[in-house]
Amino acid sequence: MENWLLKRARLTPNKIGLVFENNNWTFSELKMCANTLLNQLYHHKQSLSRVAVLGSNAADFYHLLLALHLGNIETIILNNRLTAQEIKQQTTIAQPDLIIFEEKFTEKLTLSTTDYDSLSLESLKQINSDTALSFSETTIDLSQTTTIMFTSGTTGTPKAVRQTYENHWSSAIGSALNLGLSQDDTWLMTVPLFHISGYSMLIKGLIYGQTVCLIAKFNPDTIINTLTTYHVTHLSLVPTMLEVLLNNPSFRRLGSQLKCLLLGGAALSIDTLEHCIRLNLPVIQSFGMTETASQVVALNHHDARKKIGSSGLPQLAISLKIADTVEPYSTGEILIKGPNVTPGYLNSPLELTEDGYFKTGDLGYLDNEGFLFVSGRQKELIISGGENIYPLEVEYQLKQLPMIKEAAVIGEQDTYWGERVVAYLVVTDIDDFNTDALSLLSKKIAAYKCPKTYYLVKELPKNAIGKLIKRELPNQEIIRLIQPTR
Ligand code: ATP
Ligand code: MG
Repeated sequence: MENWLLKRARLTPNKIGLVFENNNWTFSELKMCANTLLNQLYHHKQSLSRVAVLGSNAADFYHLLLALHLGNIETIILNNRLTAQEIKQQTTIAQPDLIIFEEKFTEKLTLSTTDYDSLSLESLKQINSDTALSFSETTIDLSQTTTIMFTSGTTGTPKAVRQTYENHWSSAIGSALNLGLSQDDTWLMTVPLFHISGYSMLIKGLIYGQTVCLIAKFNPDTIINTLTTYHVTHLSLVPTMLEVLLNNPSFRRLGSQLKCLLLGGAALSIDTLEHCIRLNLPVIQSFGMTETASQVVALNHHDARKKIGSSGLPQLAISLKIADTVEPYSTGEILIKGPNVTPGYLNSPLELTEDGYFKTGDLGYLDNEGFLFVSGRQKELIISGGENIYPLEVEYQLKQLPMIKEAAVIGEQDTYWGERVVAYLVVTDIDDFNTDALSLLSKKIAAYKCPKTYYLVKELPKNAIGKLIKRELPNQEIIRLIQPTR
């Protein structure tokens, strides 16, 4: 297959491929920017097979990612929210020939510069590259690894996922079959480029020939402005971002003009989903992970009302089943097989079943029509007195009670029950929080699922893309403790 950037620049050279802060680049210009950067890169170092990058949502960084794609150089995309220590650990695992970083992240590389060749993106752009070096590699071998991305580290040490061209290709095609495709579609990217949700949009931009409006940082005003200025049709968000946007009247009005509001990365609360349905927002819930190069299951908004709480149906090329059961509504580990699934990690073995399915570590069930309902992560399952408790279910119910903005449910060690259910809550007013509201919970879910202790906190610990990091909950400062009476 021909390199996607070269091919795209040939197919639709004058189409706008990228918009960033009042500037825009056609695909032909993007090719030129990538070409120049790649040439500069080869002037710095002739032989490059694996490069690590540390950058932000900005045009230069977008161009750099395209340059590495053009040069067929394996790219380790580092998360810019990591500490210097974590970056050191990840570069040690990934062993790049070179690290390219934006100068604002220089401090994050103090531990690595002695061990690795590194170069700032700003200095790379200064390299005199008048003499063009020839690089002939313009074809793509689909089985080859193109990006290495670390998982979010929500449940432990991030794993270094190899993503092949085929993984990205299948993800883009699978998503187009689900969402439909039009050359006039424009995606607004506010999720980080270093995360699969962001990078997959860059790839889709090339494959579909669509415009990507890149936003430096999640900010409701910038999003509203971009929605109004450009004819944005698609917006990708994680649920916490959507919850913020729903408080904005302009977004509530403009959002219904979108064709697709794609949500992924975590479960959406039923309350928020119902709010979206009332506002006529075209919400598409999805389920996927770094290991599957973006979403593999999606719920079309036409099904949203009748399948509330579901993540949807697997994409055409994806086989999905629940471990140890063929019965609908029976919960077990979600198993996935298909061309989106990574060939493996760099730092640990990929867990597969005997018949070659990837063990996701997530629990869920399929209903009688094959719609997937994600119950949460296996590692976060609470077993109290021999009963299984799925934190997501308790969190859903808690968030529907008055004054509760956010909820996180975990198990605490208990000598008698094994684990006891506790909840961390962010409420609208801590002092005025009426504990009577919590008694409503036992009308919705069985008593053994109801938290035995509530900790009121200012905020919940989240990672770079707004995902809750449950293992950090016990370190949160407790503002108020509630022990419900029974
Ligand atoms: P780590 O593997 O390091 O613990 P992570 O799993 O959070 O981190 P990602 O690959 O970014 O890293 O996230 C994928 C995970 O996000 C899925 O395995 C699942 O647990 C969760 N997730 C994604 N979509 C949904 C969804 N629709 N509902 C519930 N959970 C979801
Ligand atoms: Mg994971």
